[in-house]
Amino acid sequence: MNWTVDIPVETLPDLPPLPPHLRSALDDALSRPALQQPSWPDPDYTARVRALLESVPPITVATEVDRLQERLASVARGEAFLLQGGDCAETFVDNTEPHIRGTIRTLLQMSVVLTYGTSMPVVKVGRIAGQYAKPRSSDTDALGLPSYRGDMVNAFEATPEARRPDPVRMLRAYANASAALNLTRAITGAGLADLHHVHEWNMDFVAESAAGERYERVAQDIDRSLRFMTACGVDDSSLRTVEMYCSHEMLVLDYERAMLRLDQGRLYDLSAHQLWIGERTRQLDGAHVAFASLIANPVGVKIGPTTTPQDAVALVEQLDPHRVDGRVTLVSRMGNDKVRDTLGPIVEAVRDSGHLVVWQCDPMHANTEESPSGYKTRRFDRVVDEVKGFFEVHRRLGTHPGGIHVEHTGEDVTECLGGAQDISDEMLGSRYETACDPRLNTQQSLELAFLVAEMLRE
Ligand code: PEP
Ligand code: MN
Repeated sequence: MNWTVDIPVETLPDLPPLPPHLRSALDDALSRPALQQPSWPDPDYTARVRALLESVPPITVATEVDRLQERLASVARGEAFLLQGGDCAETFVDNTEPHIRGTIRTLLQMSVVLTYGTSMPVVKVGRIAGQYAKPRSSDTDALGLPSYRGDMVNAFEATPEARRPDPVRMLRAYANASAALNLTRAITGAGLADLHHVHEWNMDFVAESAAGERYERVAQDIDRSLRFMTACGVDDSSLRTVEMYCSHEMLVLDYERAMLRLDQGRLYDLSAHQLWIGERTRQLDGAHVAFASLIANPVGVKIGPTTTPQDAVALVEQLDPHRVDGRVTLVSRMGNDKVRDTLGPIVEAVRDSGHLVVWQCDPMHANTEESPSGYKTRRFDRVVDEVKGFFEVHRRLGTHPGGIHVEHTGEDVTECLGGAQDISDEMLGSRYETACDPRLNTQQSLELAFLVAEMLRE
């Protein structure tokens, strides 16, 4: 495939102009300070890439985005649970059928455990088909090279050439995202997601483990129920397909703005269904928050331990002026040692502001540490403890612990310490494959799902 811009951009059709009020709001948003943006070498060439992306078919469509918005409203009202997960950073080289299937299978397994354990609908959202851009805490890495910022921006390989930002990578991100979502739609719409195949989601390397065996017992119960329903003449299509949505961090604004589309007078970012703003780019007067407030997609915001209750209320007021239930998901990532103290006052202040948000726990990002042997890792115990703390806070306040947001993979990696396999520091090196943050492997993800199902039942 040729990854350059060879269509004369001048020949592309003129897009319908935005209505003046949206045009000026978008110009205002884009003129604000935007952190964590790539230093593209050539602004004219970047503009050409953007023009091309403005003409491509979108990755998602507005009706799907609206349906997810409705699902999130039910989560906000306490009637459903939100499960979101996938790689920290998707990569082009790992955008393969086995990898995507693995991520989806693990999400489906976790979701079955949660649905079965709680009798609550589970809204499934992958960090998939677009999670190609990463914020970094430093502009340079340990070797003094420009940091890797995700495959949408530069390459992981540690050379100065590879690390140079290349706007054409936005086209590759679009093409890879389209392919990933195409496969996701295909396998969740036919075959794999059929509840009658619930056993097949248990991969060989998991089946023998304690979590795998526990899952197998749930799968047998589901089989029995399905046979009962078949005997009664019930055969609903909802047992054979699954609604799966895609999401990524809304980070590189040149990409996101090029994927804006107007539908019935509303502006959608059709690069994904849901988008979230990261902890590092959620400045109230910044471009990301202003951009997110213009789009009709549901939006998430990561909030770390320095967030004050006032900050959280101000964010929600900016992002949800029309008070749409579940439009905003506040993703707390406080750290297991802080969540019990920091989250409560935030939940109270937002609740008292009258906005109904989804409360979601990301138990990964504030529990990252360096192992004695030098790997960036996370301890499974701390991950579980942060989720426990999140549940404790919501139970005390009578609010709904609406969901979890995790980094996991459908592969048998050794990136996080602990869990039933008791992954030790010495074992981390054997299959440490992430391009960015350490992910839960499939067994750890299932174990977490069983624990969360118990917490939800309590
Ligand atoms: C992430 O979700 O990969 C991420 C960078 O998170 P945060 O913004 O919470 O640090
Ligand atoms: Mn991450």
